[in-house]
Amino acid sequence: MIYLSDSHKPIRYLISAFQGNRLHHAFLFTGIEGVGRFNAAIQFSMVCNCENRSDLTEPCLECPTCRRIYTNQHPDMIRIQPEGTSIKISQIRNLRKKLSYKPVDADTRFVFVIKANLMTIESANALLKILEEPPDCTVFILIVENQNDVLQTISSRCQQIRFSPCEETTIVADLLKTNDINPDTARLIAGLSFGSFIRASLYLKKKWMTKRSYILSRLEKLDQMSSGFRLCFAEQLSKKKDDIPVILDIIMSWFRDILIYRYCPERIINKDYQQSIYDHAVKYSREAVIQKIEQIQIVQKDVAANLNIRLALDQLILLQL
Ligand SMILES: [Zn+2]
Repeated sequence: MIYLSDSHKPIRYLISAFQGNRLHHAFLFTGIEGVGRFNAAIQFSMVCNCENRSDLTEPCLECPTCRRIYTNQHPDMIRIQPEGTSIKISQIRNLRKKLSYKPVDADTRFVFVIKANLMTIESANALLKILEEPPDCTVFILIVENQNDVLQTISSRCQQIRFSPCEETTIVADLLKTNDINPDTARLIAGLSFGSFIRASLYLKKKWMTKRSYILSRLEKLDQMSSGFRLCFAEQLSKKKDDIPVILDIIMSWFRDILIYRYCPERIINKDYQQSIYDHAVKYSREAVIQKIEQIQIVQKDVAANLNIRLALDQLILLQL
């Protein structure tokens, strides 16, 4: 089932453009992972092709076309995503070949480029050529976190649709509705999710709450740790590459809390570590904490771009935090 949330508001704009027959041919869906960019793209492609179009604002989800799109079995809804660590030139060449034919049976064909920031330079330039002379009846949706994650020559040909992080209250309400957890836990998970439903669902698993406790217990004592212990800690964290974005979010939540404690103590995320956060807030200067946060953000960007992840995490924990 497609998960709809407030973050799907941007597609109402797209639907009205579609109804008014003034739909642009290429879009850049921007926003953090887990705010519904891909689901919104799929939903929009359904609205444009649904066989029961009496209500054009939402797809029926029941007609054969909606079902084929949802199950990724529709030949005219083309998904391009990284193979390994990047989107390769051969994938874009195959796309170009497919687009040289008319759509098989869709009124509006869609091309979804997932994690478009992972296109190689060759792939990006090949896609740019397609966007410069787009085929008829075809809409391109490139999914990235930020507008500058793709070449400027590509972003300038796309209309940007921004997806804001979900409201914390929305995530709390959803967690309470769909899980047997207490309001304090729901608020903690919503805070840690930074507005992403995908992140929130991760913290429902015991593994992540245990890992969070481990990370925070180390961060509490990080300034007393020797270089050897710091390196050991970094090694522990970088064991599973796929876990690193969430680990960085947990580290970020810690320093964010230390930063905001002096201004809004009631807004900290890790309320169960309140005393320790207070101790650190009085120990570090505001500038020092901001510097650490900026270093974490740099590593987050490297991780998103698949750059030197292990090295970046080692350096962060050994030298910057
Ligand atoms: Zn339908």
